[in-house]
Amino acid sequence: MRDLSLSSARFSKPTQSSQREIAFTSAESTIPKLLNLFAARAWSGVTGTTLNATAYPGLVAPLARVAAQNSCSDDAEDYVDGLNTICFNQSSDGFTTGVLAFTRTITANAVGVTVGSSAPAQFVGQILDSDTLFRNDGQAIYATPAAFANAQGQGAYDLESLLTHELGHWLGLDHSGVFRAIMFPLAPPPGQFIGDRPTPTTPDGPLADDDRTAARFLYPDPNDSLNVGAIRGQVLPANSFALATIAPSSPGFSVTGVVGAQVVAVDASTGAVVAATLGGWSCDAANPPTVFDGSFDLERLPLNRSYNLYAEPLVGLAAPANFSFVFAGLCSSSASPNCTAPPVNTNFNTRIFSASP
Ligand SMILES: [Zn+2]
Repeated sequence: MRDLSLSSARFSKPTQSSQREIAFTSAESTIPKLLNLFAARAWSGVTGTTLNATAYPGLVAPLARVAAQNSCSDDAEDYVDGLNTICFNQSSDGFTTGVLAFTRTITANAVGVTVGSSAPAQFVGQILDSDTLFRNDGQAIYATPAAFANAQGQGAYDLESLLTHELGHWLGLDHSGVFRAIMFPLAPPPGQFIGDRPTPTTPDGPLADDDRTAARFLYPDPNDSLNVGAIRGQVLPANSFALATIAPSSPGFSVTGVVGAQVVAVDASTGAVVAATLGGWSCDAANPPTVFDGSFDLERLPLNRSYNLYAEPLVGLAAPANFSFVFAGLCSSSASPNCTAPPVNTNFNTRIFSASP
């Protein structure tokens, strides 16, 4: 019997472009090449992870087409097949205004469950199926790096940035509120891309340190002795009575800290953003439910550095709605029964403080 939880994530832009045709026509050969580029150079270029192609050669196999051409079926149920799929020119209820692409990830909430041709899950939370759908109902065009600079690619969204973002979801990463991160929920505007193109010397070029830290957190290399620092704490209002006005999100629950603050670790010497996280809760899988106590946890930080932290409200381009799946996951039936996440608290001012891992 299937017993699964469902999450979804979107990479969207709040404005629409005019009607255009899709920019590239050589998708049959281009897409596997692009994917191999990302697989070999972006996420698998991150040091300190078990995805790293140098430390773990052979772990990431070349990607290839396994399904018949044009077998995508517009978000039909048969996508839950245990295969990871990328489909272009799709329609779906998920394509609300401004959504360019989204990835739906099926994770196991019990050992041994399967979907389609997937092997039985070995652990709770294992990703069994990730599918990415790209919209093309005339609202957006996408271009490869090669097509980006020529006339055909004018006004196009950068396919490399979008695919790298969606592959981040394949790996289990959620959105980040860091503007420079590839996992920021909004796509770069047409004609622009995120970060640097990957090169042999900077294989993970499109990623930001925040993306790298997230990959290290999910896929930590046991041999990594550098990125093992952690800073943990709570975001609390200066006046604790400020929380008294927040209604309990569900019977028996109380809110004892700031929920939904973005906590950012900045290298004190360079000012570079190293990592960020959403704070506000603590979870003990063996002892649910989730507690909304303002806790945050920044892990896999490089040692031998000093950090400044700041906590800021989610009131910029990235809004609480872009992280709704994070909050939904906190109170999934398996993670925290009978729990309802309280609303994101944006009623505070940014504060900066120093910390060391
Ligand atoms: Zn996304």
